[in-house]
Formats: sequence, C-alpha cells, structure tokens
Amino acid sequence: MTSKVLHSFLEKNIDDLKERGLYNEIDPVQGANGPVIEINDKKLINLSSNNYLGLATDNRLKEVAKKAVESHGVGAGAVRTINGTLDLHIELEKKLAEFKGTEAVISYQSGFNCNMAAISAVMDKNDAILSDELNHASIIDGCRLSKAKIIRVNHSDMDDLRNKAKEAVESGKYNKVMVITDGVFSMDGDIAKLPEIVEIAEEFDLITYVDDAHGSGVLGKGAGTVKHFGLQDKVDFQMGTLSKAIGVIGGYVAGKAELIDWLKVRSRPFLFSTAVSPADAAASTKAVELLMESTDLNERLWENSNYLKEGLKNLGFDIGDSETPITPCVIGDEKDTQKFSKRLYEEGVYAKSIVFPTVPRGTGRVRNMPTAAHTKEMLDDALKIYEKVGKEMGLI
Ligand SMILES: *Cc1c(COP(=O)(O)O)cnc(C)c1O
Repeated sequence: MTSKVLHSFLEKNIDDLKERGLYNEIDPVQGANGPVIEINDKKLINLSSNNYLGLATDNRLKEVAKKAVESHGVGAGAVRTINGTLDLHIELEKKLAEFKGTEAVISYQSGFNCNMAAISAVMDKNDAILSDELNHASIIDGCRLSKAKIIRVNHSDMDDLRNKAKEAVESGKYNKVMVITDGVFSMDGDIAKLPEIVEIAEEFDLITYVDDAHGSGVLGKGAGTVKHFGLQDKVDFQMGTLSKAIGVIGGYVAGKAELIDWLKVRSRPFLFSTAVSPADAAASTKAVELLMESTDLNERLWENSNYLKEGLKNLGFDIGDSETPITPCVIGDEKDTQKFSKRLYEEGVYAKSIVFPTVPRGTGRVRNMPTAAHTKEMLDDALKIYEKVGKEMGLI
C-alpha cells in the first residue's frame, strides 16, 4: 500500500492550485522546437522558446552531434572526475574560455545545476550573499544550499546594494560577502547595472557572480552581459547556460584558473552526477564556434526583436522597458492575461501568459521571445493576430 498521507497532501494541494487557476497544464510539442511549432496537431508561431539564435534546430549542430554519436557513443559513462571527462568536454571548456575571454571554464549538466554547484562550493554558513530580489530560482536555491546568510536587495537598486554591502562587511560577522545577480532579468528584459555593481564590489571586496543565462548569445555581440560592459576582468564568476541561445543543454562557469580548479574538486554536481553526452558537448562547442566566427545570427535576433517591439508598440500595446529581445506585452489583470494568451493560441500564436506570483499582481503579461530563426513574414502574421485579439478584447 502507498502512503495515505502523501495522497491527501497531493490531492488537497493540486485541487487548490486548480481552483486558483495556477495549475499549469504542459503542452507537448510534436517535433522540433523551431520558430513554428506544432501542438495538438495545430501549427503555431512560436514566441515562447529561449532558442534565441535558432541553434536548437541548426543543421551544422545536428551534423556534429551525429558525428559525436558515431565516434563517442550516446553517453559519457561516468561522472567527470572518474572517467566521464571526454576530449569533447575539454574542447568545449577551452572554446568557452576563449569565447568569454577568461583563463578557464568548467561545464556542468545544466544552468540550474551550475548554480547549485558553484555557489555552495565557495560560500558557507559563515558568509553572506547579497541577492537581487528578482534573481532566478536556481540562484535562490543555490544560495540556500550554501547556508550563507541571504540578504535580499531591492531590484537593481544600487543605493540599497551599497548600504547592505557596507553593513554586511562592517558588521564583521562574515568571512566573505558575495553579490549575485542575473545579467538579464527574464521577466522584464532589463539588464543588471553591472558597472555600478562592480564598483561597489571593488569598494567592499565583494565576490561577484553574474548568471548570464539570458545574456549569453544575446548581448556583447553574443559574448554576454559582462562583455557588453567590458568587465571581463572584474567579475569572478561568469555563469552561463548552454540551453538557451547556445541551443543545446548544459551550464558553465568562466573565471580565473584557480577558481575553476577549485570548482573541479569541490562542486558536488560535477563530482557526483554524470557528464553531458558526447553529442551535447560537440554541438555546444560548434555553437560557440559559430558565434565566434560570425555575428550574423546575433544581428538577425536583434533585428527581429526590434521589428516585433516596434510592431507591438505601434499597435498600442504596453511592452514595458525591456533592453533585450525579451518582449513582454503587459495586459495587467491576471484573468485577462490568461484569456489573451489563450485567444492568441486559438488564432495561431504561442506566447505564454506570466502572472502573479511570477510577476507582481496586476502586471500580468504575455511574454514574447523572438529569435533569429523567425522570418519577417512570421512576425507580420503574429502582429496581425495580436491586432485582432487586442481589438476584440478592447485592449488597444
Ligand atoms: C534558464 C535559467 C537558468 C537555468 O538554465 P538551464 O540550463 O535551463 O538549467 C539559470 N539561470 C537563469 C537566470 C535562467 O534564466
């Protein structure tokens, strides 16, 4: 017999979520996650992926992945520290270090995993972490795992950061103090104020950690937010993911060789979880090579983003203050937002609604993620649908 306590817990909580309209039904995509996807046998213009550069379905990446399967098989066979480190992983790390302009790189199985690994390898219960209130869930969990004191900082509020840094350092209570931030915030598309953050870090000798999941491949001609501001020599941890713009799966930290050496002996997901597959490593390396060879995809991403933003703005939608391709379309009321997204779906656009508690109450939005793989035609079609649904609901 299985647990009755578990059953009643699950039943009560799932019903509760359903009643409050917070139970998320997952739509399976039939086939590849490209600029047009198929769900329930329906073709939709896809404005929901993180596949910024369209690399998830790029033929050049598919080719190297197939070759890697032929030469190395489908699995790494062990954790990196036993004998799961293949030459393909080393090549990936070398290429990433070149790309990021740092001494070394360590790669992990995912971006989430990377934050769980890297923060707690360096920070412990005698330390403190200054964390932006809008940081990603994986940063929050990584900080919790470290057992360091977590000090929440108001979003991108540099006075608050300075005051809390000063207080933490001058209290003498902590051995080390870290400041940690998303490079690009994924709900509003705003960029962290890294020049000021680095200045405050220098003043108080803070460890700096930038999670650039949404910045890599997007800002700094593809090299990321830190490069965008020219701060490669001033940030200790440049964390990135291989799962968004790079189009594959995995995460990494770029930094000084001594930091990477330490993470290789002390970060637990690296030590106790099997490495990414040969195909993943080879495809990621190829993607980084492509980004280093040419900025074409990056330029197309920005062109498409600007086109979509202009189009939505001209229609009269509120698109917030995004500084990146992330394009929120703010509807406000939660129920209206959900209805809007549903109507877009029925008309042929896949753009998910994001509502409280992910964003503040009354700021419900549909979030659009244009990519380099969209054609102008697809974007025009999407805008027509936006216009139709917007007028129908009296929003524009
Ligand atoms: C998506 C994301 C991650 C997780 O990356 P995965 O490679 O998908 O695990 C981590 N941090 C931020 C800020 C993200 O947006």
